[in-house]
Amino acid sequence: MYVDVHAHIDVESFDGDRDLVLSECEITVINAGVDIKSNLKTLELYKKYNNVIPAVGFHPEFVKDKLDEVDKCLELVDNVNIISEVGIDYFWIKEPEFRKKQLEILSKFLDKGERQRKPLIIHVRGGINDLINLLSSYNVNFVIHAFEGSPSVAQKIVELGGMISIPPVIVRDKYRQEVVKNIDLNYILTETDSPFLPPQKMERNKPCNVIFTVKKIAELKKIEEKEVIRQIHENFTKKILMK
Ligand SMILES: [Zn+2]
Repeated sequence: MYVDVHAHIDVESFDGDRDLVLSECEITVINAGVDIKSNLKTLELYKKYNNVIPAVGFHPEFVKDKLDEVDKCLELVDNVNIISEVGIDYFWIKEPEFRKKQLEILSKFLDKGERQRKPLIIHVRGGINDLINLLSSYNVNFVIHAFEGSPSVAQKIVELGGMISIPPVIVRDKYRQEVVKNIDLNYILTETDSPFLPPQKMERNKPCNVIFTVKKIAELKKIEEKEVIRQIHENFTKKILMK
């Protein structure tokens, strides 16, 4: 059974073939909401598909224009077991006051995750040190989704008790390949971030493309694919389902 710990299959580009996309391989998909509308859509998908697990959050890119949605998104967390998409994005958001706001919002989700014992699947683009500082004062299970840092930063994440999630774009991304070589498989998860980050440029990404990630991990670690699939599933059960 494959695992996609971070996807956005609620988006319009899946309206025509969502059933097919969710059934073309044996997979469990965590769908991450990014604002009120997509959080609600995520909860609907959960009712319809038994291999979709809902996650609710507030995307840091919306810190400027959807700030009024934060409280409602926080409230919706009470309906799910996983918090996502949350995080910080210094690539798109340059103003210090809005970066500070992102950290404040993330703190609120971290508070909730800690109190309700729910894992967080976190987006970070730039600002990794701010994120590490913030995370070190919380006792939560967390995953850095589509991790794009160096092996030494990945090591820091692992030391803090976090997990690193790898998208299929790894097939053409030497930096992520280095990370996978250097980090123990016990701390790695697979995802797609569908419809983004496809294995080949300009394609629409889809959950079953985690197969490409698994193949690449097996090649880099010099182990069998079925062992990668088994260990990733075990990591997912322990760290995200917390069973
Ligand atoms: Zn995402």
